Amino acid sequence: MNGSPELSVVIPVYNEQDNLTELVDRCLASCRSTGRGFEIILVDDGSRDNSRSMILAAADQHEEITGIILNRNYGQHAAVFAGLQQSRGEIVITLDADLQNPPEEIPNLVRAMDQGVDVVGTVRKNRQDSFFRRVASSLVNRMVQQATGVMMHDYGCMLRAYRRTIVQAMLQCSERSTFIPILANSFAGTTTEIPVEHARREQGQSKYSVLKLISLQYDLLTSMSTFPLRLLSFFGALISLCGIAFGLLLMLLRIMYGALWAAEGVFTLFALLFVFIGAQFIALGLLGEYIGRIYHDVRSRPRYFIHEIRGTGTVTSQQQ
Ligand code: UDP
Ligand code: MG
Repeated sequence: MNGSPELSVVIPVYNEQDNLTELVDRCLASCRSTGRGFEIILVDDGSRDNSRSMILAAADQHEEITGIILNRNYGQHAAVFAGLQQSRGEIVITLDADLQNPPEEIPNLVRAMDQGVDVVGTVRKNRQDSFFRRVASSLVNRMVQQATGVMMHDYGCMLRAYRRTIVQAMLQCSERSTFIPILANSFAGTTTEIPVEHARREQGQSKYSVLKLISLQYDLLTSMSTFPLRLLSFFGALISLCGIAFGLLLMLLRIMYGALWAAEGVFTLFALLFVFIGAQFIALGLLGEYIGRIYHDVRSRPRYFIHEIRGTGTVTSQQQ
């Protein structure tokens, strides 16, 4: 292979020995059918089975395959990042190693990218996940749409294509907890979505336990905004206002019905309590605002990415 390939396929692998052989064969066939130069980057995320040696063997056998071996398990998104760092293609495609995302969709993604968009997302046509997973992810999708303003219907599916500029932008982000599809969308100018097939997992088990899923959801939530922190203040203000309103109501009723009705001020105590609980939440929210700003700074994301600069007055040798 000479020069950079046009197409890079990045695949995170964690204990997928039963899928790897078929994965490699199908990916190679699918990439070849695009008729472009390509590379396939398999990232071993600290597997404990034979995946590691299988990846190394595949890398030796096929010149299009690169194997990256991480020293331990860092999680799916960290593994994908390692692959992105290594990738050179103008178009970078990510996909899961478990064959739930059929590699045969790669040419379709490339075709969609040829329309000139920055990111191609996918919508799983016939999702083969459990009901619980489906409900959870539809909730998440709606939240993300609210927060990022980018309309995409299916953030759970990692079968996606990114342009080089977007990959470079993502690589410059120093935060540790990331959710790649959302990070990409925060840099993408134009996006599109295509429907793809989705298969049941035939070999091995899902690598996400309930706890890992919860952690992923938090990554996702905090990676897009600090809005939840602000919610604390709103919530506090609401409780305080309710407390004050309740207090006023009690006062009114006491005047109307006398001291006996007011049960020696027990209800008044409740009203006071509400006001103070609310105040606590407001204080928490304020702390949150600080933490949010610290969080933004710690991530030190680049402020912007210039797509192109034209007409700076400098004359290059080509134009002379
Ligand atoms: N994966 C990984 N590291 C992990 C967990 C998962 O590299 O810690 C890989 C895994 O090998 C697969 C992809 O991420 O290629 C998605 O994992 P899985 O299919 O278990 O997730 P699900 O489809 O259940 O969301
Ligand atoms: Mg899967």
